[in-house]
Amino acid sequence: MGRQISIDRIRNIGIMAHIDAGKTTVTERILYYSGRVYKIGEVHEGTATMDWMDQERERGITITSAATTCYWQDHQINIIDTPGHVDFTVEVERSLRVLDGAIAVFSAVEGVEPQSETVWRQADKYNVPRIVFVNKMDRVGANYSDVIEEIHKRLGSNAVPIQLPMGAEDNFSGVIDLISMKAVTYNEESLGATFERTQIPPQYEEEAQHYRELLIENIAEEDEVFMEKYFESHDISEQDIIDGLRRLCISNKLVPVGCGSALKNKGIQLLMDVIVNFLPAPTQVPPVRGLNPRTGKEVIRHADDTEPLSALVFKLMSDPYVGRLTFLRVYSGTIKKSASYYNASRGKRERVMRLLRMHANRSDDIDQASAGDIVAAIGLNLARTGDTLCDQNNHIVLESIDFPDPVISMAIEPKTKADRDLLNETLEKLSDEDPTFQTKVDEETGQTIISGMGELHLEVLKERMLREFKVHANVGKPRVAYRETISAEARGEHKFQRITAGQSQYGHVIVRVFPRERGQGNQVEFKLKDGLIPKQFLDAVETGIMDSLTAGVLASYAVVDCAVEVIGGSFDDENSTEMAFGVAAGMALQDAMKKAGPVLLEPIMEVEVTTPEEFLGDIIGDINSRRGSVQSLKTRLHSQIVRAEVPLAKMFGYATSIRSLTKGRAGYSMEPLQFAAVPPETEKEVLSFY
Ligand code: GDP
Ligand code: MG
Repeated sequence: MGRQISIDRIRNIGIMAHIDAGKTTVTERILYYSGRVYKIGEVHEGTATMDWMDQERERGITITSAATTCYWQDHQINIIDTPGHVDFTVEVERSLRVLDGAIAVFSAVEGVEPQSETVWRQADKYNVPRIVFVNKMDRVGANYSDVIEEIHKRLGSNAVPIQLPMGAEDNFSGVIDLISMKAVTYNEESLGATFERTQIPPQYEEEAQHYRELLIENIAEEDEVFMEKYFESHDISEQDIIDGLRRLCISNKLVPVGCGSALKNKGIQLLMDVIVNFLPAPTQVPPVRGLNPRTGKEVIRHADDTEPLSALVFKLMSDPYVGRLTFLRVYSGTIKKSASYYNASRGKRERVMRLLRMHANRSDDIDQASAGDIVAAIGLNLARTGDTLCDQNNHIVLESIDFPDPVISMAIEPKTKADRDLLNETLEKLSDEDPTFQTKVDEETGQTIISGMGELHLEVLKERMLREFKVHANVGKPRVAYRETISAEARGEHKFQRITAGQSQYGHVIVRVFPRERGQGNQVEFKLKDGLIPKQFLDAVETGIMDSLTAGVLASYAVVDCAVEVIGGSFDDENSTEMAFGVAAGMALQDAMKKAGPVLLEPIMEVEVTTPEEFLGDIIGDINSRRGSVQSLKTRLHSQIVRAEVPLAKMFGYATSIRSLTKGRAGYSMEPLQFAAVPPETEKEVLSFY
């Protein structure tokens, strides 16, 4: 059995937007018009299909990337709903990694907001072709050309309108399609499901002509095929425009811009045409690259069913009915149910029990999925986010997904003894799903500590525990997740000699430690003469060191950017044991770190504040009082934009203070930037708690 839909008719897309720009509402409409759901869900009524988690309904935000398939004009569109809140940028990153194109949704009133800029830059990083949908044309203050100008200025992007709004605010009545030069108006009774294409009303004719010429000039300037045709014949067909735009959009040289009002059911079908017409098929993006895990040589796989299977795990989810769902992007070959594949990241075989095509609120079993598709598998219990699944005889490891280190943590404990096991089980499931959510037990206090990317992130997870998994737990105040590192080179040694349970134990290890550059991580190397420590104990030595690196010598925070060399030791023929070497290695490392100028590192956030001019002085003064440093100031329309770097420790409760400082007129966004050494005074203060 072959594939059901040819690969050039697949579109894998994401919808990216600032929170509240209307991503969920747009997605809902797309699903409705493509015939997948039969009742339009409304976000403000809490019934949107994509936001299927209870909490999202209540909070009105989208948290989980749910993959959804729908069909339009004989094309299959796989949509990944991506979150808009800063605490979840990692979700955006991981969807951008597996998608071929994106829709950027902007509000016609708020325009390009800080978070949209962040996401736009992420899309730049992955070279994702984009189209823009300017939503909320019906709202008071809607201004299409202002938003386009902002896209040019703030995002430095060649955004070109392919549609114009007819009217705005209350008078927004439909959209002019500059490609077909027709006016499109929507039938309100059918909730916009039916619409009419008519002649452009006279009052819009001149403007439409002007923008169409601009569009054609823009295509001619960038696309040679189009330009030749244009100058030879001056006879440009609709298809020529579509073809030219398609080439430019896919090569990231131009961003087509359209508009509408998702809430008022206007402009969505045109948007779906734009997705199909201008965003790339899986065959039109560069082939995926990876490494052969055995030889380290580069391997390239094309979006082709006849090549060996390669697929990337980009999301895990636990479903109360079917168990664990593993979301896969298939890059090459075909994956079949009831077949075994090689997880090249783990070095183990795994069997796919079932394959599912996911819709927003239901799923269909399928027998196979081929290159270019996005599906969910059941049965892959080893796989983690970022792993590669491949053909058993043709191994490849695709580049994994980078996840930032958590910056915030809090203690969590079960309300009753009975909750303890369930809590541990639940924490394990949640950290499986979300690599930026980690849990560990504090060795000294015995407390369980959870860490994540921000206050909202942990808050949301805490509520999921309660609702989905029915775990009752108490949590402490959020705290900064500090790190430890060293600032100098040092040598450490430990000889472990003891009699336990009537058996004597012996292990002796000497290490040297060096600081590494920020962000390089830890490294353990063996640089010792043969015979000093027998080979069978080297693993135990390495494990002892790795364990010891999880808790530093200052306050038991994880150690980062530290190089460890095992340079010596000794053994005893009769009494050496793995246990003794493990302990000796850990103690030797601690000895070295104490002498190596240990320092505390704290997360620094990149903060962007948008404020009216009159509050600029107060905002900057406040940032300085938070140990922050202002990096740049920019003017945008009537606002000032302050970019600053501020320690996370000083950002708790910022939402409240900025509101009172500016009477609610300023907004901000922040995301983790880097870890940096805590100033000595502050270090003293932090350490005094331990
Ligand atoms: P998301 O956070 O980007 O997913 O945005 P939502 O889809 O949840 O929409 C945020 C709010 O804006 C909701 O209250 C929607 O009803 C409203 N909204 C969405 N689209 C439009 C629109 O076109 N016009 C108006 N007036 N409101 C809209
Ligand atoms: Mg949403």
